Amino acid sequence: MTANLLDFDLEGLAALCARLGHQRFRAVQLFRWIHHKGVARFEEMTDLARDLRERLPAVAQVRALPVLAEQVSTDGTIKWLFDVGDGNAVEAVYIPEDDRGTLCVSSQAGCAVGCRFCSTGHQGFSRNLTTGEIVAQLWYAEHALRRRSGTSERIISNVVMMGMGEPLQNYAALVPALRVMLDDHGYGLSRRRVTVSTSGVVPMMERLAQDCPVALAVSLHAPNDALRDHLVPLNRKYPLRELLDACVRYLPAAPRDFITFEYCMLDGINDTPAHADELIALLRGHGGRGVPCKVNLIPFNPFPASGLRRSPRAAVKAFADRLNAAGIVTTIRKTRGDDIDAACGQLAGDVRDRTRASERLARRAHDWQVVAVRPHVSRVVEGVG
Ligand code: SAH
Ligand code: SF4
Repeated sequence: MTANLLDFDLEGLAALCARLGHQRFRAVQLFRWIHHKGVARFEEMTDLARDLRERLPAVAQVRALPVLAEQVSTDGTIKWLFDVGDGNAVEAVYIPEDDRGTLCVSSQAGCAVGCRFCSTGHQGFSRNLTTGEIVAQLWYAEHALRRRSGTSERIISNVVMMGMGEPLQNYAALVPALRVMLDDHGYGLSRRRVTVSTSGVVPMMERLAQDCPVALAVSLHAPNDALRDHLVPLNRKYPLRELLDACVRYLPAAPRDFITFEYCMLDGINDTPAHADELIALLRGHGGRGVPCKVNLIPFNPFPASGLRRSPRAAVKAFADRLNAAGIVTTIRKTRGDDIDAACGQLAGDVRDRTRASERLARRAHDWQVVAVRPHVSRVVEGVG
């Protein structure tokens, strides 16, 4: 198969052009045609050397992802379903706001981490996306939105790797994709406007700090290991202490001087005042100096088979107030696009599960019982009832 030019960051494209006997500035031109102008056909790239223009079709193409569906929410959020072949499909979500336009991008077809409260996690894992498939989501969304609004101005100002998949479990494909987003000849996004969200793949956080330190969001969801082991199974491998250490080590390279912690609010599971106090103690006490951070509370977005409920508004508000009063800046994420299942954790695409996670998690959700929700303790017990 011919090379997919969406697979290359600028260095990769320069190497490809060198193999065809062309200088780096030709790669810059090509890269700009593709990413700045959204052009896929070489014959339209009019200032490209004729020899290169004529040879490229035999060796390369700009392979976009077929769009299977587009849904537009009443709040302006747009969700696209992209076909990635073999019965797999992934989703990307555009979220317009007054001062920014954010694209939420997928990194894998499914996810192997298997968080209890996540629709993608329930689907299991099929495969990593390629760099080209990650970039294709942005390429399509940016240029489709520009065509639609009749502008040549940039529309997407922020990218969050918060779609389907665990980006740090697809590291090799992720980093060149991030470079395309950051490159001035690509999308020209600043490092603070590109966020990688991770459930806590500690070794890869260290590598990201060295290779491409963008903004980091860490999905915490629990203030202690016992609960986090249940909610985010990866915690058994990289427990909270190690995870928070890795956050502190990431900071010197980070484009912001804090880490964002995401915390999905689950009724009766992790949302009591006692949990808030435990979280405060964890974040302020860690390593004796605490972790410079902000906390973003995400009201749980339900999906069939989760067996979980969203925390009541008052509980979310009380939790936020308690953290804020303790000096930890805490915000509540506004739910966007939930009428089209485009809110956090609702992205499901279509995944051919190779891990049987869907069966396993569906069974467990059924078995789960919250056996005690007392003012100070909530225990989740598996396999009861
Ligand atoms: N795998 C990465 C990024 C994708 S998930 C991660 O876990 O960080 C993006 C965010 O949505 C994460 O913080 C995740 O915990 C949250 N999320 C997942 N399912 C959710 C749900 N049902 N409701 C609300 N947030 C959810
Ligand atoms: Fe994977 Fe993130 Fe969903 Fe967990 S929350 S299953 S890591 S996509």
